Amino acid sequence: VFNFSSGPAMLPADVLKQAQQELCDWHDLGTSVMEISHRGKAFIEVAEEAEKDFCDLLNIPSNYKVLFCHGGGRGQFSALPLNILGDKTTADYVDAGYWAASAVKEAKKYCTPHVIDAKTTVDGLRAVKPMSEWKLTDGAAYLHYCPNETIDGIAIDETPNFGDEVVVTADFSSTILSRQIDVSRYGVIYAGAQKNIGPAGLTLVIVREDLLGKASVACPSILDYSVLNENDSMFNTPPTFAWYLAGLVFKWLKQKGGVPQMERINQQKAELLYGVIDNSGFYRNDVAKANRSRMNVPFQLADSSLDSLFLEESFAAGLHALKGHRVVGGMRASIYNAMPLEGVQALTDFMRDFERRHG
Ligand code: PLP
Repeated sequence: VFNFSSGPAMLPADVLKQAQQELCDWHDLGTSVMEISHRGKAFIEVAEEAEKDFCDLLNIPSNYKVLFCHGGGRGQFSALPLNILGDKTTADYVDAGYWAASAVKEAKKYCTPHVIDAKTTVDGLRAVKPMSEWKLTDGAAYLHYCPNETIDGIAIDETPNFGDEVVVTADFSSTILSRQIDVSRYGVIYAGAQKNIGPAGLTLVIVREDLLGKASVACPSILDYSVLNENDSMFNTPPTFAWYLAGLVFKWLKQKGGVPQMERINQQKAELLYGVIDNSGFYRNDVAKANRSRMNVPFQLADSSLDSLFLEESFAAGLHALKGHRVVGGMRASIYNAMPLEGVQALTDFMRDFERRHG
């Protein structure tokens, strides 16, 4: 079975097999890793190694801290303003899709966000204005954007270059580790784990050191970046099993050639899938090429009355979770790191065959 779920998403089969083997007797302890104390030496080793591997994979500079948190992406929609606003009352929020807009809604509880509407169209296709056209506000505490809109299938792949004064923050939930990025261009990067990292329940935050220590007094301690940092992400009990599993995924990624190799494969997978969509009158994707997501590929059938049959038959063929998000409709194939090229080949073979039979 190939699982195209947008999240929680497919995990690498090798990782699941290893976790299964270790489940009841981890490191000959006669117990599972999720049953041991997060404060014991054995788990601390797991935690530290996962953090180190994550830093290696993303080339995270030494002046950044990595936090392993609870609360998901939505938790960070609150944590970000609570930690980074300082004494400022506004922040710039770029709106290019569903999740960026959701971050704005939450930010309104803590400040008056200045929304930069970056949505546009190119030849009738949905697109995002280039960063050079984003009009930033003087006195904004930070700039926030979402480089991969999981629902809309829209990506912003440009590297931010707004100068040292602008604290760039970004929701990398559905694109982290899928392509190389320059972490030094960001003040804060955060990502829920359940797409490219591991199981739900874990959220990773990468924060530049000089941004610590500014949290609002109202910030819950479990969301306070400084408190988490001072306690090595163990202020409260962390999601230990998810942390361990994320560690296995990081090792798997390293073995596979790291982020550069993932980027190559992700590019190949996306080209294959968009190619089949573009070369048919039967399927369509309405995002401009420059902003197409390599992780989440929404597509519509020209005849939407065939949607349920498509879903039924694809499921029977072992291609699961292709139903599009209710906001967009149609289909969506999420093709994160764990989805092998063969999965996308199987999907495109099915799509061609379905078109032949029903087109
Ligand atoms: N941001 C992005 C880009 C997402 O795709 C999602 C969930 O799919 C979220 C935030 C919300 O994440 P969570 O459910 O972990 O709060």
